[in-house]
Amino acid sequence: MDIVRELRALIGESGVLEAADVAKRSAGVWRPDNLRAAALARPTSTEEVAAVLRWCHANGVPVVTHGGLTGLVHGADAGPDEVILSLERMRAIESIDPVQRTATVQAGVTLQILQDAVEAQQLFFPVDFPARGTATLGGMAATNAGGNSVIRYGMTRDQVLGLEVVLADGTIVSSLNSLIKNNTGYDLKQLFIGSEGTLGVITRLVLRLREKPTTENTAFVGLEGFDNVVQFLKHMDRSLGGTLSSFEVMWQPFYQLVTTAPAKGRPPISQDYPFYVLVESQGSDRDLDTRRFNAAMEAAFESGLIVDAAIAQSEADSASFWALRDSVELVLHCGLPVIFDISLPIAEMEGFAARLKEELPKEIGEDHRLFIFGHLGDGNLHVSVPVKPADYMALRPKIEALVYRGLESFRGAVSAEHGIGLEKKAWLPVSRSKVELDVMRALKTALDPLNVLNPGKIF
Ligand code: ZN
Repeated sequence: MDIVRELRALIGESGVLEAADVAKRSAGVWRPDNLRAAALARPTSTEEVAAVLRWCHANGVPVVTHGGLTGLVHGADAGPDEVILSLERMRAIESIDPVQRTATVQAGVTLQILQDAVEAQQLFFPVDFPARGTATLGGMAATNAGGNSVIRYGMTRDQVLGLEVVLADGTIVSSLNSLIKNNTGYDLKQLFIGSEGTLGVITRLVLRLREKPTTENTAFVGLEGFDNVVQFLKHMDRSLGGTLSSFEVMWQPFYQLVTTAPAKGRPPISQDYPFYVLVESQGSDRDLDTRRFNAAMEAAFESGLIVDAAIAQSEADSASFWALRDSVELVLHCGLPVIFDISLPIAEMEGFAARLKEELPKEIGEDHRLFIFGHLGDGNLHVSVPVKPADYMALRPKIEALVYRGLESFRGAVSAEHGIGLEKKAWLPVSRSKVELDVMRALKTALDPLNVLNPGKIF
């Protein structure tokens, strides 16, 4: 069976890359290796996606769908006998409706292209994260991506009104709803959001847009204790009248890393505090917003909640604060990082972090660093443990056991915003009961009985 020839007959010569050409492509921005697959199909329409899936289904060929390849959990890995289905040629923004406040897009549109297009109409798509230039909206829906504004607007799931999806056998399910309220039976789109390409291939989306905020107030804050961080979050949220848009926490080692050479960033406040917060409010009235933000900061200072703060005086200041938060790649200077994206109750975070700091040296010795930062308001921490590259394979399982077992006692989530992929599937039972997993498997069997779509991922 010549997969390449068969698929080319369906979607054209340039629509399909053969294995040797697939192998010239990078496996993603975070990956040192290249792709491999029997073929890579690049359909240009939903009908072509359906044709590829119908053929693969009939011939028992597994299909791995690709968006921007910015994921971190090996959710898009393909094997040499599998077909990669890339949405890279489906990059059209089909319409933007400023009255209904929706955008209808093809799945291969990148986040940044959408952000720029809606901004031109004074509208706003609120999911944002550093990989915006590469990550695609189809991939973001398939993984339910989070980011830096979840505290105010929710995750990708909360921005999707409708989807068009192709099922494993090539059936097109067009559910392109654009209504905010629509309680007419099962909400089918939710099945596919966060399913990591295992239940269907998302081809088009109707996304909810918001009015664009026009002002921004940002501060970098130093705090003496974790209780203060928690109280500061409540204080700011209460004081800002619904305009709090980000609340990012950093434990001291991460702050020192991103504000010390070879990092380009410089410390906006002293490096001596145990905790740091990047807080931001977005609004629409410069004077009013600034007065309210500064008053809230002053009150926090006077009551002793915070001990130091730099308040951005310009967009450049604000951008430099965010650059510190986004400099996650600096952990690479300390070794090869074992990274985690976990959720846990805010009240448990400090205890969890303290125990990890204490246990790590017992398990893996002293030769490592521990960086913790994340989206505190969402209960989401990113943990990074760089180790010597030569030790990585041996130490990774030990570090994973420490982190994930530590979540077990309060049923934290082994994935907050990155998904399960291959990387976390062994640990999924930490967060999900047997009954829950059985229901997931029943859905998978109902929609993809031959196990053609992204086989082996999640469970
Ligand atoms: Zn994140």
